[in-house]
Parts: sequence; structure tokens; C-alpha cells
Amino acid sequence: MTDTNRVPVIDGLFSEGPQGARLLGSRCLSCATPYFPSAGTCHNPECSDSKIQDASFGPSGTVWSSSIQNYPPPVPARYDEPYVPYALGVVDLDDGLRVVGRMAVDDPSSVSVGDRVELVIEPLCHNEDGSEPISWMFRPT
Ligand SMILES: [Zn+2]
Repeated sequence: MTDTNRVPVIDGLFSEGPQGARLLGSRCLSCATPYFPSAGTCHNPECSDSKIQDASFGPSGTVWSSSIQNYPPPVPARYDEPYVPYALGVVDLDDGLRVVGRMAVDDPSSVSVGDRVELVIEPLCHNEDGSEPISWMFRPT
């Protein structure tokens, strides 16, 4: 299987490079509030000078909260059949963004608050035509 089978589930939300995976968003230069996906204006009510600039986030972070998805999520969620429960994490990336993502672990009960993780880009499922919709996930380090 080649990388050409890896298709971003949504274009423009993440990238993979030599420094690892990154989430693509923006940050307000005035108050430093991070946005993912990117925002056109700052939504911080205490910020009076919205100056939005493109920014990327990751790859290191810490689990703030987690849960196990025990039943298949509704469309448009993607997963392999038969459904296998997986862990979801809310992760504080070191550069200031708090974001939800699937945990890239075999045992969903193994995730704990405070675990150090890295952002990775992995397939959400494997389609019969060989394509693999990819998205961001978090892997313990
Ligand atoms: Zn701001």
C-alpha cells in the first residue's frame, strides 16, 4: 500500500512534516488565543485588537481528559467494521491549543489524565477500494 491511498478526511486541517504532525489553525497576535480550525476574527471578549495570523500546533501535549467511545458514533464518523471501541482524548498541546482527538492506543482503558502524547496522522478506517481516510490522533510517548 502506498501513501497515495492516504486521503485527508478534510483538506487543510493538518500536515505531516519533518518536525512531526501539526494542526493548522490561527492565533490572535494581540491576545495569543489559539484557534482550530482557523478563525477569521478573535472571539476573546477581552481582546480589543483582533489580529489573526495563521499558526500551526503540536506535536507534543498532555491528556486533559479522556473517554471511551463504547458504541459506533453517527455519520460522518469513520471506523472499520466490526466496530471496536476506542479512546477519545482532550489534549492540551504544549503550544496552547486544547483539542479533541482519537487516541492511537490498542487498549482504550490505558489512557490517563496527565499522559504525555504526540500528535500523529493515522487512518480512521480502511476502505474496500484501498483508500485510507486519515486524521489526527494522539499517541502516548
Ligand atoms: Zn485576540
